[in-house]
Amino acid sequence: MAIGRDTNIKFIKGVGPAKAAMLAKLGIFTLGDLLEHYPRRYEDRSQLKPIRALADGELQTFQAIVGAVTDSRPRRGLTLTKLTVRDATGTAQMVWFNQPYVKKWFRPGMELIISGKVERRYGQVQVSHPEVEVVDGADLLHTGRIVPVYPASESVGQRWLRTLIRQALDAEGDRPEFLPPEVLAQHKLMGSRAALENIHFPADAAALEAARRRLVFEELYLLQCGLLYLKSLNRQEGAGIKHGPDDALVKKVEAALPFALTKDQRTALAEIKADMEDARPMQRLVQGDVGSGKTVLAAIALAKTAADGYQGAMMAPTEILAEQHCHTLAQLLAPHGVRIAALTGSLTKRTREEVLNRLRDGLVDVVVGTHALIQEDVIFRHLGLVVTDEQHRFGVRQRALLQAKGPTPDVLVMTATPIPRTMALTVYGDLDVSVIRELPPGRKPVKTYAVGGDMRARVYNFIVKEVAAGRQGYVVCPLVEESDKLEVQAATQLYEQLKGTYFRDISCALVHGRMKATEKEAAMRAFYGGEVKVLVATTVIEVGVNVPNATVMAVEGADRFGLAQLHQLRGRIGRGEHQSYCILLSDNQSPETRERLAIMAQVQDGFVLAEKDLELRGPGQFFGTRQHGMPDLKIADIVKDTGVLLEARQAAQRTVAAPGLFAAVRPVLGKRFGDHFGMIFQG
Ligand code: ADP
Ligand code: MG
Repeated sequence: MAIGRDTNIKFIKGVGPAKAAMLAKLGIFTLGDLLEHYPRRYEDRSQLKPIRALADGELQTFQAIVGAVTDSRPRRGLTLTKLTVRDATGTAQMVWFNQPYVKKWFRPGMELIISGKVERRYGQVQVSHPEVEVVDGADLLHTGRIVPVYPASESVGQRWLRTLIRQALDAEGDRPEFLPPEVLAQHKLMGSRAALENIHFPADAAALEAARRRLVFEELYLLQCGLLYLKSLNRQEGAGIKHGPDDALVKKVEAALPFALTKDQRTALAEIKADMEDARPMQRLVQGDVGSGKTVLAAIALAKTAADGYQGAMMAPTEILAEQHCHTLAQLLAPHGVRIAALTGSLTKRTREEVLNRLRDGLVDVVVGTHALIQEDVIFRHLGLVVTDEQHRFGVRQRALLQAKGPTPDVLVMTATPIPRTMALTVYGDLDVSVIRELPPGRKPVKTYAVGGDMRARVYNFIVKEVAAGRQGYVVCPLVEESDKLEVQAATQLYEQLKGTYFRDISCALVHGRMKATEKEAAMRAFYGGEVKVLVATTVIEVGVNVPNATVMAVEGADRFGLAQLHQLRGRIGRGEHQSYCILLSDNQSPETRERLAIMAQVQDGFVLAEKDLELRGPGQFFGTRQHGMPDLKIADIVKDTGVLLEARQAAQRTVAAPGLFAAVRPVLGKRFGDHFGMIFQG
């Protein structure tokens, strides 16, 4: 059988089904996966020292000749194996406990390279459980070099992995060169095969550095090529809908707004309108902090597409948010004759059918919904504009699916999670960006306090006081990452407890992700209507919920949330005329936690918090682990590799602009990022 990258790992020599199952736990299923199982770190065992010069208490490497090997049983249940080795400068003793089998590895006169922690005892050099390798002319893998340390497990050891990967490199060593020669030359990149070799078994420190740079570059370059190509496809000249200049409907909607738009809103709106009036399809992201007023821009854009006889669709990540948008749009647009419908997972079969029919027949102008919108049976008569809210909850792929419901609709993406520029380039690399930094006038910053659990009574009594003054509030339950079910349990418990104590005389309600949609809706509606004063909730309220009368929020277990997420939560208050208060409760009072939460108390700017969060938690954790649209990066770290990212993006821009160059790269994209981009690059 021919061995290739797609070969199942169990067919590799020395693996077999049992070992294959263990490798699967490390995410290794094929030979290709094995080759891409990059080291977690390296140990420099390349500096050989004479025995006499070995430093006490440190990890050292030396070369020596085997003398005697002995076995003894000083106590019951203990075997002691001792190996004496020597070089021209002295002798040293290797020791193993309860590993009698090591004895048969050694013959007198054998030459070894040994790495381990050196202890000097009574003038004698001793190393317990050293890493030992026989010098026999073959490449050294475990000692005498810069040694890779892999993500491993109890059943998959370093030595075994190293040997296996060495073998894989020798069997399938020929790594094709995916990068165009121009790019390689211009960015002075190491060749493909050499990079793979040196990322695993670096010749020296410089080779390791060059190999890593090459692989990081490659990964980011390919991703950028994909994103930029997507952008070029979407922005093709003449392919889109050319909306007309604002007609009477748009003017009426704008004139009826209860407030004047801020300068940033006006700028973003002008950019949106210009894109819509252009013959190329719009691909625009509006990035604005919580409460900066993005929804109203979406409403105006939707009015504009309706005015021209097209349909608009707005997709939100949660039912609550979809409901709320529906409510807002109904207020802003319905009085001017725009026909609005909701499409969520909780509709009855009959209502759903009805909405689908009206959509197909063009009897609905604007539909607001959840993921339910991208289902196959949702058909539009003439989709002109797609808006996705809180885009970080959706991937490129879901956006593409909704977009595909019309020939070439304009696309507007909104996010309240301000993301750092470098991350924006990877997540939103295919979009044009408008930024709203300014908040509507008159907003008072939310006073934020980070306190320990000993303040709990005061916190809840304060909420009671705010309610007595006519305000409303939120209690956010601790995040339980591992399980939805446990989270719901904890939330229910907290709710019962509060109702039985502090909130005895206050009407409160619980909302969480596992409630029936109708129950959730009823609770939310009562909160909107002011009948419910305190909403005890999990992070389902994280995005978009808008009740200006809510002025206080207590977050339990605040240390479990990321800063960006806390900022989102805090964005639920401070939306009205009254001073608002956010209290971050945490029983974890370690200095790091205090410091992190103190940042929340000091900083109100979501962009600044996002940068901090990315710095503190790294890109993987940034959006919370549950949902995000980021592709899986194998080696690049967009926080540490910013420099390479910018270089790779420039290179990708040149590549995508040159059809000949791009043709060479294109086939690789589907393989690498197919899941992220959908079908576009497959076949
Ligand atoms: P977000 O950007 O978080 O989605 P919203 O669109 O929900 O923010 O707006 C937050 C609140 O601010 C809403 O109640 C909205 O009506 C109000 N708002 C939006 N723009 C302005 C403005 N220019 N002046 C005053 N209030 C505004
Ligand atoms: Mg919003």
